[in-house]
This record gives sequence, structure tokens and C-alpha cells, in this order.
Amino acid sequence: MRAVPAVFARIEGGDYEQVVFCQDRSSGLRAIVAVHSTRLGPALGGARFSAYTDEDEALDDALRLARAMTYKAALAGLDLGGGKAVILGHPATDKNEALLRAFGRHVDALGGRYVTAEDVGTSQADMDLLREETAHVTGTSPARGGSGDPSPATAEGLLWAMRAVSARLWGTTALTGSHVVIAGMGKVGTHLAEGLVREGASLTVADVVGARVDDAVERFGATPVPPEKAHAVECDVFSPCALGGALGPTTIGELRCQAVVGAANNQLADGTHAEALVDAGVLYAPDYAVNAGGLINIAEELRPGGWRPDRGRAAVARVFETTTRVLDLADAESVTPAAAADLLAERRLAAAAGTPRLRLRALSGGAS
Ligand code: NAD
Repeated sequence: MRAVPAVFARIEGGDYEQVVFCQDRSSGLRAIVAVHSTRLGPALGGARFSAYTDEDEALDDALRLARAMTYKAALAGLDLGGGKAVILGHPATDKNEALLRAFGRHVDALGGRYVTAEDVGTSQADMDLLREETAHVTGTSPARGGSGDPSPATAEGLLWAMRAVSARLWGTTALTGSHVVIAGMGKVGTHLAEGLVREGASLTVADVVGARVDDAVERFGATPVPPEKAHAVECDVFSPCALGGALGPTTIGELRCQAVVGAANNQLADGTHAEALVDAGVLYAPDYAVNAGGLINIAEELRPGGWRPDRGRAAVARVFETTTRVLDLADAESVTPAAAADLLAERRLAAAAGTPRLRLRALSGGAS
């Protein structure tokens, strides 16, 4: 019998439905699209443009991120599957119109099994260009019928998650008087700060870019803290809104918050840290449950009639209910909230296991 090539072993091991390698010689496009699951609907996930060290690293990233999207969409109650695209190259030097158009044609050839979106290294303007090659793209500008920048919706979702956590810990959904530390005053962190100040919360903020901290001090009356000390500030909620891996053995031991609710993906440096947080008496609201607002909002673009701001906002409010369900299940089954989130996603996927896989149908509106 022939040996199974390593690539197929990885695809089969993670039970991926389809992995597509895309190339276009004239523009230099090299991309990988991973479709983890279309069990619940089209596999939606961003297109990441990154200078990977090698093809193996790019494939690993595509596989890992596509799987994470399946879980995120399932937990959020969306009729969407999980997928991800990675484009190999440096966005600053390798990205050009011909390459993006070639990528758009590859996405189009998947006929709607995979729907792309903005991610690290791609922009809303890139999505607008892709829209000229395929209908299977979200996050285009409102002028193109899209929902635009997902960050405000992600921040709104975080506010709903904080209300759910507040109800659990302090018996009130009101955030008035809460003290929140935001580590990372980028797009999401800034929108979150606006919402929190509107609700009467007080803020401590950190960023590696000093000007962003200065801005928050001036606009929101926030207290500044150096990035390496942000997690150790005594507060009600610590909100990691920068990079992954914010919660590791050292940082968990130094936390002086009661809860962690943040936008950053992969906040736990590894799975065992969910237990360490429980032992430290810190309520950890799982990252992919609470940062789903942007995805929920963007998913509205695929509904009949397309995206509308009022419908987007109403949908994002469901993060409150999802967070509550995760915390309830964690209590009921004596598992960590991180494990409870995975269980809820897996149960929804298992319940759909008997239903036929995605049947392709034309999405409304062709490429324009
Ligand atoms: P962003 O790049 O606009 O902001 C990140 C900010 O973090 C920047 O201001 C950066 O200077 C700062 N930063 C970097 N390292 C830091 C450190 N060590 N300490 C403190 N600050 C640091 O990104 P964003 O769109 O605001 O997203 C924030 C996080 O949330 C990312 O991890 C992203 O993957 C995740 N996320 C974003 C969205 C969204 O809608 N934008 C949705 C889901 C998840």
C-alpha cells in the first residue's frame, strides 16, 4: 500500500472537508483555502496575507484557523461553517491587484462553499476588489453592500459579554462603576473604551504604541499602565485586546481581576491554563464566545435582503445569551468555561451530523 502523504494525514486527522491549493503564475499568487466544515452552512473565514516561513507553516495556519472558525460560528448559533484562506507573501510588497483578482477567481470557483473576509494583512479595500471577481466575499464597504469594519460590532459583543459576566458575579447587568483594564487600544480596544465610558465604567489602558494610550487618557479619562503590568492591575475585568497568549503561567499568577473578557484570539497560552484560572478564582469568559460580534454582524450580509445596521446590532446582542449559556454549562457540568464553550459548539455540530452537507445554491447577487 502507498504511504499516505503528510499533507493528507494532516487534512484527514483534523477531518477537514477540503483543502485547496491555489496558484497563478503571472501574478505570483500562492494561497491555501481550508474548508473545515460546511455542516452548518458555507465556510466563512478571513483571508490572511502573511510572510510564512514555509508552506508547512502556511498550511498549519490555514488548518488551525479554519477549525477555530467552525467552533466560533457553531457556538454563536450561526448557520455557517468554518474556513480560512492564507495567501503566502508579504502584504506590503507582494500584494497587488492582479494577485488579489486571481485569488478572487479561486474563491469564486469554490462556488460558495468558502466565503472570504478581511483578516490580518488584508483590508476592506481588498474585499471591495475581490467583490469584482466573486460574490462570495463579506466585509466589503457599505457602498458595496457590505457591513464594513467589524471592530465596532466585536466591541459591542464584548460589552454584551461583560454584562453577562457582571450579572453572574455582581447580580447586575449594568457596567456603571466597573473598573476595566484594556490591554491593546487598537480598533476593538478603542470602540470598547467608548462603549464602557458611555456606560459609566472607569478605565485603565495599555498599548505598546504610546500615542494610543495618550489618546485614551485624553478622550476617556483613562489611567495609563505599561503593557507588561496591565494584567496585574487590581480591577473588575481585564480585557486582553492585543495579541494571543495573554494568559500564561506567570500572568495568571499575577492577575488581580475578577474576570477576563477580551477580544484577542487564543488568550490561553495552552489548554491547561483554563484550570489555572479557575484555581485563581478568575472567571474566564472564553475568547471565541465573547469576540464573535464581528462575525455575527458580518454573517448578516449573507441573509436575504443583506446587511442592515439594526439587524446587525440585534444579532450581536446574542453574545449575552451565548456567554450565559457557556457559564451555566460550566457550572452544571463542573468544567471550565473554555471546555463548556467547546462542548456547546460540538453538541450543535453533532446535532447537525445527520443533515445533508451544504447544498450549493447561488448566493443573491452575482459578482459586480
Ligand atoms: P489592532 O491591530 O487594531 O489593535 C491591536 C492593538 O494592540 C494595537 O494598538 C497594538 O499596538 C496593541 N498591542 C500590541 N502588542 C501589545 C502588547 N503587548 N500590549 C498592549 N498592546 C499591544 O487589532 P484589533 O482589530 O483591535 O484586534 C485586537 C485583537 O482582537 C486581535 O487579537 C484580533 O485578532 C482580535 N479580534 C479582532 C476582531 C475585530 O473585529 N477586529 C474580531 C475578533 C478578534
